[in-house]
Amino acid sequence: MGIVLRQVSKVYKTGEVETSALKDIDLTIKEGEVLIVLGPSGSGKSTLLNVMSGLDTPSAGEMYYNDLAIHKLDQRGLTKFRRKYLGFIFQQYNLLQNLSVKENIEMGAALSDHPLSIDEVMDAVGLTDKAKKYPSQLSGGEQQRVAIARSVVKNPAVLFCDEPTGALDEKTACQVLELLEKMNDLYHTTIVIITHNPSIALMGDRVIKMNSGIIHTVYENVDKKRVG
Ligand code: ADP
Ligand code: ADP
Repeated sequence: MGIVLRQVSKVYKTGEVETSALKDIDLTIKEGEVLIVLGPSGSGKSTLLNVMSGLDTPSAGEMYYNDLAIHKLDQRGLTKFRRKYLGFIFQQYNLLQNLSVKENIEMGAALSDHPLSIDEVMDAVGLTDKAKKYPSQLSGGEQQRVAIARSVVKNPAVLFCDEPTGALDEKTACQVLELLEKMNDLYHTTIVIITHNPSIALMGDRVIKMNSGIIHTVYENVDKKRVG
C-alpha cells in the first residue's frame, strides 16, 4: 500500500501547555518503499509513526492508504484497519510469556485474513528449532525475531518499526535488518523504520530527517546498500 499525508499536524495539550509535535506534514510513501525516519529525541518521530498508523489521531490533515481516507474512520474502523493491513515492531518485544514461540506467531496469523504460512515465516526468521521454547528461554535477538515473525505472518501491507534494533547488539541488529529486507523483497511490504542508528539508514530507499515537528531534510538513497 502507498501512504499519503497532507498537511498533517498533531498538537498535544497538557493543561495550559500546547506542544506542536507535527507541523503540516506532507509526505508520500510509495508501495514497497523502505522509508527511514531519523531525528533527535523529541523531534516528532514517534508521533509521526503513531499518527500515520492510526494508533493516535491527528489534530488536522488528511491521510490516505491507497484510496482509503483513514482520517475519516472512527476508532473501531481504525482498529479494524490496523489489524487487517498493518504490522508493528517496537523496541520492547511485547511477547506473550506463557505462549511458546510457535504459539506467539500463531496469534499473529489468527489476526489476518490472508496470513503467510507459519512454518515458512519461522524458517525465514531462523526459529524453526526454537518453536517449542518460551520467550524467557530466548536471547534478546531471538525474542525480537519472534516479535517480527508475529507481525510479518499477518502479511501486513505496511510494517511500522520504532527503534526495532534499539535493544540489540550490532550482530543481532544486522540479522533483524536482513530479515526486514527479505520481507520487503519477498512480499513488497512497505516499511517505515524510526531509528537513531545512522547505519540502518543505508538500507532505506529514502531517509527523512525530522526536526521540531517538521521534515527537515529528505535524502533519496540512490545506491541503497544491503545489510548482509
Ligand atoms: P521523538 O519520537 O522524535 O523522540 P516524539 O514524537 O515522542 O519525538 O515527541 C515529539 C514532541 O511531542 C516532544 O516535544 C514530546 O515531548 C511531545 N509529546 C510526545 N508525546 C506526548 C504526549 N503524549 N503528551 C504530550 N506531549 C507529548
Ligand atoms: P492488534 O490489536 O491487531 O495487535 P493494534 O493495531 O491494536 O494491533 O496495535 C498493534 C500492536 O502494537 C498491539 O499489540 C499494541 O498493543 C501494540 N502497541 C501499540 N502502541 C504501542 C506502543 N506505543 N508501544 C508498544 N506497543 C504498542
